Amino acid sequence: MSASTSDPDSPDPLDEARSLIASARALLEELGEEDAFQLERAPSSDAAPVRAQRAAEPPASAPAPAPEIRPTFAEPGPRPTLEEVRARLGDCRRCGLCEGRNTIVFGDGRPDADLLFIGEGPGEQEDLRGLPFVGRAGELLTQMIEKGIGIPRRDVYICNIVKCRPPQNRNPLPPEVSACRPFLDDQIRAVAPRVIVTLGKPAASLLLGRDIAITRVRGTWQEYQGIPLMPTLHPAYVLRQYTPENRRAVWEDLKAAYERSRA
Ligand code: URA
Repeated sequence: MSASTSDPDSPDPLDEARSLIASARALLEELGEEDAFQLERAPSSDAAPVRAQRAAEPPASAPAPAPEIRPTFAEPGPRPTLEEVRARLGDCRRCGLCEGRNTIVFGDGRPDADLLFIGEGPGEQEDLRGLPFVGRAGELLTQMIEKGIGIPRRDVYICNIVKCRPPQNRNPLPPEVSACRPFLDDQIRAVAPRVIVTLGKPAASLLLGRDIAITRVRGTWQEYQGIPLMPTLHPAYVLRQYTPENRRAVWEDLKAAYERSRA
């Protein structure tokens, strides 16, 4: 992930091409194999539901009932629980990242936390253990939460943009992010935190809907769907650039986030 390098702003075009191919392959397999999944989806412009609808079409005299099942909860409707969102994610094969993962890393912490942290994607340790932020960057994040803010890590909720480890810890690519996005939005809706803290450029850029410069935007209050959002540096970046300035910056951001979550 770029957060672990000194420049968090540089996608690799070769990686991008590989992932596009992997995602296309996964989609083709899905179209070919998963009839049950296709039948579940609401009608849309996707080829899969159209095909499934056609196969299931009754004779012209009987009107077909509209499929009721929503692809995710990220649409208007009742607030989901985290268990429902996890169940919906299932043994996900919606993008190419499923090919290389050991486990899906969904999230960790209090389901009704006041503070929600969002990183990029699982690394090696996270992929092996099925929990977010349990490697070196995770140790630093845990320290920041427990020693910096002074609350147990289990009292916050932590998740990532993508739930499967990108190869070689590279940045998640656009098709991977798009495939996982509804589940991130559903997690946010399920937890309904008082404050969101984004860790690093990709999570802040995604939620703010624009390409941000993390060193400029960090520490400034933003908003996501009516929820106050504090962008801060990714702990992997802080590990690489372990300067008093970076440590102080994150400490100030987390303190501001915590205070706002209790206001
Ligand atoms: N980096 C992330 O962004 N997320 C993790 O879970 C671990 C490292």
